[in-house]
Amino acid sequence: MKQSTKTSSTSKTTSKAAAPAKSTKKSQYVYNFGRQTDGNASMRELLGGKGANLAEMAAIGLPVPPGFTISTEVCTYFYAHDRSYPKSLAADVKTAVGLIEAQMKKQFGGKDNPLLVSVRSGARDSMPGMMDTILNLGLNDVTVEGLAAISGNPRFAWDCYRRFIQMYGDVVMGVQAADEESHDPFHELLDALKKSLGKTQDNDLNAGDLQKLVTQYKELIRQRTGTAFPQDVYEQLWGATGAVFGSWRNERAILYRQQYGIPAEWGTAVNIQAMVFGNAGDDSATGVAFTRDPANGEKAFYGEYLINAQGEDVVAGVRTPKPIAAMEKEMPDSFAALEKVRAKLEKHFKDMQDFEFTIEKGRRFMLQTRNGKRTGLAAIRIAVEMVKEKLMDQRTALLKIPAESVDSLLVPIFDTKSQKEATLIGKGLPAGPGGATGRIAFTAAAAEIETRKGNKVVLCRTETSPDDLKGMLYSQGILTTRGGVSSHAALVARQLGKVCVCGAGEVTINYEKRTLTAGGHVLQEGDYISINGTTGAIYKGLIESADSEVKRVLEGTLKPEKSYTYELFQTVMEWSDKYRRLRIRTNADTPAMAEQAVAYGAEGIGLCRTEHMFFEGDRIDYMRQMILAVDQVQRTEALKKLLPFQRKDFVGLFKAMAGRPVTIRLLDPPLHEFLPQDDAVRRQLADKLGLPLEFVIERIKALHEENPMLGCRGCRLGILYPEITEMQVRAVFEAAALVLTAKTPVPVNPEIMIPLVGFKAELADQLAIVHRVAKEVMAKNNIAIDYIVGTMVEVPRAAITAEEIAVQAEFFSFGTNDLTQTTLGLSRDDMGLFYDEYQRKEIYNKNPFASLDQTGVGKLMEFAVANGRKSRPDLKLGICGEHAGDPDSIDFCHRLGLHYVSCSPPRVPIARLAAAQAALREKK
Ligand code: PEP
Ligand code: MG
Repeated sequence: MKQSTKTSSTSKTTSKAAAPAKSTKKSQYVYNFGRQTDGNASMRELLGGKGANLAEMAAIGLPVPPGFTISTEVCTYFYAHDRSYPKSLAADVKTAVGLIEAQMKKQFGGKDNPLLVSVRSGARDSMPGMMDTILNLGLNDVTVEGLAAISGNPRFAWDCYRRFIQMYGDVVMGVQAADEESHDPFHELLDALKKSLGKTQDNDLNAGDLQKLVTQYKELIRQRTGTAFPQDVYEQLWGATGAVFGSWRNERAILYRQQYGIPAEWGTAVNIQAMVFGNAGDDSATGVAFTRDPANGEKAFYGEYLINAQGEDVVAGVRTPKPIAAMEKEMPDSFAALEKVRAKLEKHFKDMQDFEFTIEKGRRFMLQTRNGKRTGLAAIRIAVEMVKEKLMDQRTALLKIPAESVDSLLVPIFDTKSQKEATLIGKGLPAGPGGATGRIAFTAAAAEIETRKGNKVVLCRTETSPDDLKGMLYSQGILTTRGGVSSHAALVARQLGKVCVCGAGEVTINYEKRTLTAGGHVLQEGDYISINGTTGAIYKGLIESADSEVKRVLEGTLKPEKSYTYELFQTVMEWSDKYRRLRIRTNADTPAMAEQAVAYGAEGIGLCRTEHMFFEGDRIDYMRQMILAVDQVQRTEALKKLLPFQRKDFVGLFKAMAGRPVTIRLLDPPLHEFLPQDDAVRRQLADKLGLPLEFVIERIKALHEENPMLGCRGCRLGILYPEITEMQVRAVFEAAALVLTAKTPVPVNPEIMIPLVGFKAELADQLAIVHRVAKEVMAKNNIAIDYIVGTMVEVPRAAITAEEIAVQAEFFSFGTNDLTQTTLGLSRDDMGLFYDEYQRKEIYNKNPFASLDQTGVGKLMEFAVANGRKSRPDLKLGICGEHAGDPDSIDFCHRLGLHYVSCSPPRVPIARLAAAQAALREKK
């Protein structure tokens, strides 16, 4: 088919699209592609990803069957107007169908040469498998005969018809399996028919068999719904269109949107396109391909196809397809042509593409292209290699890598030795790399229950449907017995970063008996299973995991030149460091953590929670002794024991950080975190401290607080017990003096931080102690130590009075864990009860403790920055709440002009990349 375009210019088409709905000019809701193409790739918002790229492919001369897109504006209208459509739409759709008829030389509903169409969803960002699709629309009892006659292939015509009734019956008329454990009723009829005829494959059924099946399908629909399957083709078209728009709000689409932060307002477009047939005989095929390997990023043509089949067969995993490489022998011309398409797509879209194609009697058609979903490793490899191949520059490449992907280079993999010793019970297709171990769960519900009990789970299904998404989210890994590498299970797992093995044909799952049988072993639900998504291997029992290559190189147990993964990691980190403005610090409380963070690229410690230094060994008891003390004498005695530990740890931290800034926060914890709650531990503590048990119990009672998070913690502790502040400050400066005067001196850069300040007087009280003790230690050691003192901003009052507070504070560090807690009036320990409901109702787009509430908490931060700087223009600004490791929050901190973010050590590489992306986005 020769494609030409009238227009593909962005400015022309978008200006049309942007016309306000109420202007005198009629709104455009329908956009054609094919001989006339109204859209292009830049119009994703209006046409959805699929529609925009179909238009673009038509415009660059790729063979796209003609069709049209009903815009996302119609979706918005549909929901705002009780699921109805704008008045002009029906006429516009008729005109657009006319255009397809003219190009295909077929009639929609025509009895001699009927036009069939597909009706497919297409959101701005692809949501694979989450919304509905209907193929072969336009068939009825009359047109099926016409199709049989004109194709000279009655079997094909009846096969299309039975597929259409099945899809339409399911998606539009709601004839579905009763629950997760029963079978699809259409499949049951198909299987029963095959069985009665002694046939095993769908392809063994002849025209007569399929005609019989059509009668059974229609009867099933009539019985289940009380209505006949519609024969009017426009009734079919509007039924399908409504179902696709309706599927934007189905449960799995909502869940998917939450997972990926896709706003509910975006809506989906609907694409209506002439059908081409991969099931027209053995010279026909359909397939899905990736321009590079989406699992590991290698520049290899990757994908799969099925001869004499329709697209749904590949995606749903009903038949296991052949790898694309097999096509080179089986259909050499088509293979060569697809190789050319592959190169053209990458050159044009400048990214790895995931495309769908159909071959109808040797003619090739493109049905879709989109930026391919990929694993974290693949994202990084593709970006780095595309720069080497000059397909893109470093800046573009960095922006293409989801910052979280860096994590996948650092996650543990199976320990090689344990894996060798484990019992291999089967093999499937490697579809999502990494190692996963967990208890077997056969349903999404079982996966959820086990996970909530605190167990790890591997979801094992014959095949997954989008309804399994929730179960997949709860699982460490996913194992399926059917389907190929582009089946739903594989696509979604890859995107979720889940380990996945699919198409494990030799594994049998029996849902009724709740068993999984493989290699002669029978496993029950709840038994342990391990899967290796990099090799496809399946093991019985638990397997220990091992550190990633990157981690091993950083720790010195693997040579850098031996690991290509490390080279990729290092390249991305070096590029990131070139473009970022934010400094990256870490939250570390021990020298080991600090060393790990430095290896990951941390440039300082932004938060040392000194109370965490007391978790180890005997220290916790002295800490408890200090808390339980009834007077200053007892407290000072306990503090004396704690001082040497504290000093030693600071020495370790200063050495590990070698002159980089180290922010040490004075004692902050809500006391209940340190007091033993159970009787046995209380007794042990009493024995250890030589105190009567009753005394210990009484003191714990006396110290009880209704809201410990909002009680005697933070600077209130140091104000109430100045001797604690005094001990801690002494330990810091004595450690600094020791390190500075050691045989091999190491520079130090301490920053003392006062927690939970809300009043300038609180800060003044603590500052006086800090400066006095610092002076004393320096004088005693006859040494000068550079240091600064600042405060955390973690209660709204500190943000609101920032101008006053900055008079004395040399730096602000936003403690966004507490600032979120106190701004939202929501305990960070107690949101479990209602959080699910809040998510379901989309009240919180994201968990506010994981990703900064920019419109609320962020406003306070903005205010604090602006007003703090009024008193102190060179005020140092950072953030040390958990949000500091979240890419969206990092972007916000960059825009706010903070100097650094401080996150946990494993998040440091992600933060480096996210900070670079924030800087690059700003320049765009
Ligand atoms: C904070 O509140 O953000 C913070 C870093 O302190 P913590 O989590 O220790 O309360
Ligand atoms: Mg805090």
